[in-house]
Amino acid sequence: MRLIDPLLIIDYLELGVLVIDEQGRVLVWNRWLERYSKVGGNDAVGKQFSEIFPEVKGSRIENAIKNAIENKLASLLSPGLNPPILRLYKNNQDMHQGKRLQQLVHIIPLAKHAKACLVQIQDVTASIKRENQLRVQSAELRDITYRDPLTGIANRRKFNEMIYKEFREASLNQKVVSLLMIDIDYFKAYNDNHGHQAGDDCIKLVASILLESVKLPGSLVSRYGGEEFAIVLPGLEIDQSLQLAEQIRNQVAEAEATLKEKVTISVGIATLQPNSDIEMSTLISEADAALYQAKANGRNCVVTTSNLLTYSILPI
Ligand code: GH3
Ligand code: MG
Ligand code: MG
Repeated sequence: MRLIDPLLIIDYLELGVLVIDEQGRVLVWNRWLERYSKVGGNDAVGKQFSEIFPEVKGSRIENAIKNAIENKLASLLSPGLNPPILRLYKNNQDMHQGKRLQQLVHIIPLAKHAKACLVQIQDVTASIKRENQLRVQSAELRDITYRDPLTGIANRRKFNEMIYKEFREASLNQKVVSLLMIDIDYFKAYNDNHGHQAGDDCIKLVASILLESVKLPGSLVSRYGGEEFAIVLPGLEIDQSLQLAEQIRNQVAEAEATLKEKVTISVGIATLQPNSDIEMSTLISEADAALYQAKANGRNCVVTTSNLLTYSILPI
């Protein structure tokens, strides 16, 4: 003896269930659909599916229904790939705002009813919302892992990734890459004289000057470590790199009004045309060697590795 009519159970399901025949007529319409479409079962059954939801005309769901009935092919329309298809709303407020339920729609051929198919609709609004939140959080986390907390500019991790990428691209496109290594002069003394907090402020100020001065598309201003910065300049030739480095050096030297005392920087520049015989580390070691030379030459100056000659030396 059957105690429960299985057809009644579909009214208790937390998902939309409808059956459509080959003429596009609705044969079954459960209570979930009544609730979220505001169309009662008595009105829906016997009506054309496309009359209840005019938005399905020419849409993927219409094709999928046809495929299920004619070719016995099942489909899954997922919300990640498609905006919500049907006009189904959680409540009146969402309806007024045009905020449809996020829908996961299964279209299933009915074996025993050769000319009909079952459409099953799940409300996945909550999981889509969670997914979006996670996406935003992961973008924020990724941003944090690439940012130096003191200055807000890119950190060494970002530099390592970018220099590798730019070096490879320059090699493929037969373009040059310039790298500026910048170090604040006598910074230990500045810290000792004015305290760590003032030292931090000085690092922040230098970082902001560098960021302001470098506008080249694809360039990266980063904190390499301590009081040292690195600037990657894809496509910038040696002369322009020297010009930019000089401009930055001057700006730092002139920023004393906002600092405890005058601060200067030394800059080492390497410009390379990468190819398969040159290691990426060469670019860094050459810029480092130029910086070392700039320090040896008396600081507050710019040196390029193309000839390891001092570009300018100014009294500190
Ligand atoms: P040089 O002209 O040769 O570069 O001399 P220098 O004194 O700048 O170089 P040194 O390497 O001797 O000292 C660097 C100092 O930078 C020592 C360290 O305490 C300080 N420093 C590194 N990171 C930070 C930071 O985040 N904040 C502050 N306030 N100081 C830092
Ligand atoms: Mg230093
Ligand atoms: Mg240093």
